[in-house]
Amino acid sequence: MIMLSENKIELHTHAGPIEIQREVTIFRCVMERKNMNIPNPKEIEKEISDFLSRKYGDQVKVVSPIVMPQNQNSETENKGGGHDTPIHFDLKPEALIAYLDQYIIRQDTAKRILSTKICTHFNRIRHQGSHETEKSGFHGQIKNNIIMIGPTGVGKTFMIRLIAQKIGVPFVKGDATKFSETGYVGGDVEDLVRDLVRESDNDIDLAQYGIVYIDEIDKIATSHGHYGADVSRTGVQRALLKPMEETEVEMKVPHDPISMIQEVEQFRKTGKREKRSVNTKNILFIVSGAFSHLPEIIKHRTTNQGIGFGANIGTAENESEILMQTRAEDLIEFGFESEFIGRLPVRSVFEKLTETDLYEILANPNNPIVLSKRLDFATYGIDIRFSDEALKIMAKRAFAENTGARGLVSVIEQALIPFETRLPSANIKRFPVTREVIRNPETVLSRWLSGEGIEKQEADFQRIQEQGRLKLIEYLRKNRKKLSEQCGMPLTAYRIDRIADYYDTEVVEIGTATEKIKLFYDQIKRIEINFYNRHELNIVLEEDAIDFISAQMEKHSLNIDQIYHKLSGDFEYGLKLLREKTGKNRFFLSQYALENPETFLNQLITSELKKHDADEASISGEQALSDLLSCLDARPES
Ligand code: ADP
Repeated sequence: MIMLSENKIELHTHAGPIEIQREVTIFRCVMERKNMNIPNPKEIEKEISDFLSRKYGDQVKVVSPIVMPQNQNSETENKGGGHDTPIHFDLKPEALIAYLDQYIIRQDTAKRILSTKICTHFNRIRHQGSHETEKSGFHGQIKNNIIMIGPTGVGKTFMIRLIAQKIGVPFVKGDATKFSETGYVGGDVEDLVRDLVRESDNDIDLAQYGIVYIDEIDKIATSHGHYGADVSRTGVQRALLKPMEETEVEMKVPHDPISMIQEVEQFRKTGKREKRSVNTKNILFIVSGAFSHLPEIIKHRTTNQGIGFGANIGTAENESEILMQTRAEDLIEFGFESEFIGRLPVRSVFEKLTETDLYEILANPNNPIVLSKRLDFATYGIDIRFSDEALKIMAKRAFAENTGARGLVSVIEQALIPFETRLPSANIKRFPVTREVIRNPETVLSRWLSGEGIEKQEADFQRIQEQGRLKLIEYLRKNRKKLSEQCGMPLTAYRIDRIADYYDTEVVEIGTATEKIKLFYDQIKRIEINFYNRHELNIVLEEDAIDFISAQMEKHSLNIDQIYHKLSGDFEYGLKLLREKTGKNRFFLSQYALENPETFLNQLITSELKKHDADEASISGEQALSDLLSCLDARPES
């Protein structure tokens, strides 16, 4: 084995260590004379190996990783997706889909395509970061830029935002209509890239892995009619080509006072006039639009090819089905340049949402619209709960607005504003949103404010709260497997109850409530490690034992140290004795064991000794057993 550090180089052989400083110095001199760059660790390892095997034959091999001084100029090397990416990404597509499932209703195909391609994009960057693959890399790789097709308010932005958050990369959204209006598209796209830097707290390295989302992209398609407008739209498309592939975007904007000030500030802080630019090579571009007459183009093409979709065009389901057949030629026919479409290899269609979908969105325990309303009222000390019937009416109203889930926000606002105005100054702390509240808000409000119907109001609140809890438990049970995997803790019935309790009292997402319960779980699991560190006893607390401990802590207001001492008192002596006699040192403790430590230990000793004796074919099994049991009886008081 070779040990290499800056000041000591040794070769470890069976005859002991040999200093090979001289050899390595020769190696370094050779490198310098050849005027070669300092190679990376893998290369230097290979060179040294070759050098040593030439000198010592096959007996000598380099087997340890070589310690090299850090490259001081890593900043420049990192540019454009160098070796050390600031994102620590190892998500698999299915895990990302499972995450999105917690928030997004429907859009299964889009979830699958986007999760897969975005995961691959970032995993590819990470993979390329390793020196191994860099050698086998090739030029002209195609970026997985994405085009999303779908009406407004169906979750396009929501999905990308969630993905960016999960991955930990900055995200910015812009509007293509703005580009065509100003006609200064290069500047606008560059502004979005610069915004990524702002989103990353001025961390250019991180910004270079961000996501730029451009909505209303269909507005920059040519319409084959208005010549002037078409020229500028084509110009917009062309101006997007370079940033979508790779370009350097200067952070300094000429004539922009803010960027001038930033530069002066930077100079003041570092004394250097640093050139700051963002490389867009690894920035993912996602564009989207409603593409309203695209289905007709597809229908026309397919009819001409004799594979038409029939007359059902226009129904929502059929429309998404048709859109799923979109080809590059349809988008070109729609009014895009082929080079532009060529830079958007991934296509994803979002479905229109039905009234039932809108209800499902509201009923989802992670829904941000309902959660933020709960938070709004909580700021006045008012606990607001939505009944199922009220959610259904609001979904129906929102559906009529034809703006997808966007309508939900305005419908809820409209229904609740009178209450948000009046309840904070009234002494009403529990607000049940019933069917009647939505249908006749003014009547209900004036009744409550005059002190009438308070009992009914309280009964409604309790009913809705209880129903909400049952629905939540049902949700947690249904998603038990996924949630358990995500949080790294099996969701037992007890834990599901605790999560529901927490969710009921705090305004949080399910993930946050689960994490809270997981903190307790981890704290209790740490007892196992402490037991090992202090007693060298390897205990495993079974899931029911962990729940039992947690319940005891809550019931008797115990802390983890008290629990630890109780367990040590109950089990340390007996388990050590058992380890001594049988050599066994892994003990599973169930709730039964914690509740009945003595009986449990007796039973364990009996069964273990029998097993041990059978293994050893011992003749004195009975005797050993009774000795051990009497030792246990005579243990010191703890
Ligand atoms: P768009 O498709 O126009 O980008 P958004 O993603 O911005 O629409 O949707 C607006 C809001 O509606 C989101 O913030 C989210 O709260 C809700 N929403 C939209 N679609 C869905 C969906 N499929 N599932 C859950 N919530 C949704």
